[in-house]
Amino acid sequence: DRSTASTPAKRRVGIMGGTFDPIHHGHLVAASEVAKSFDLDEVVFVPTGNPYMKRNVSPSEDRYLMTVIATASNPRFTVSRVDIDRDGPTYTVDTLRDVMRLRPDSELFFITGADAIAQILEWKDSDDMFEYAHFVAVSRPGHELVLDDSLPRESVSVLEVPALAISSTDCRDRARRGYPVWYLVPDGVVQYIAKHRLYTDSDHDEERAS
Ligand code: ATP
Ligand code: MG
Repeated sequence: DRSTASTPAKRRVGIMGGTFDPIHHGHLVAASEVAKSFDLDEVVFVPTGNPYMKRNVSPSEDRYLMTVIATASNPRFTVSRVDIDRDGPTYTVDTLRDVMRLRPDSELFFITGADAIAQILEWKDSDDMFEYAHFVAVSRPGHELVLDDSLPRESVSVLEVPALAISSTDCRDRARRGYPVWYLVPDGVVQYIAKHRLYTDSDHDEERAS
């Protein structure tokens, strides 16, 4: 009788949100380390829609495809379009709701770097966010990993991960100046950036040579 069978353990699903312009090895190491430490069955990478606080971001389809290329070889890594297919700015509370709807009966773990966790209380509906997911803050070079006292302790964990001093901003800047991004981003992403001239053609963003 099925009703007496013990409830199956919920699937443990990580969510790695980001602009991913471009995705780099810092993102991938963070996701991989959290997957190991929290025994996750899957990590869903979710590229943002139009980030309201960043100007001149690459088209979402390019960011989506680079994320697919970077994660394709890992059987536990997947990519979701929920944020890029939703109109308007991306709020994490909406990301969590949408991923939960697509994967009922899962337990969610939202992965963020030390820089992002510092601002989390300012995010829209942060109380609801902590209802939907456990938050894992990972270390990031250049950012002190401290948790605000007003964060709900049971909803946030901290994890030290191998330090990779890589940022998308630096990768874009290097590509623009003709410096290599080999070994900072996966090989397929190096080639995608070159093929589509992502950061060289356009007046892409804030730190372009003046
Ligand atoms: P940008 O320079 O454009 O802001 P980024 O490198 O910070 O790009 P994001 O897409 O903004 O990348 O970051 C997505 C998530 O990954 C954030 O939670 C961020 O803190 C985390 N993250 C980014 N780079 C690293 C890294 N090197 N180590 C650990 N976490 C990282
Ligand atoms: Mg960032």
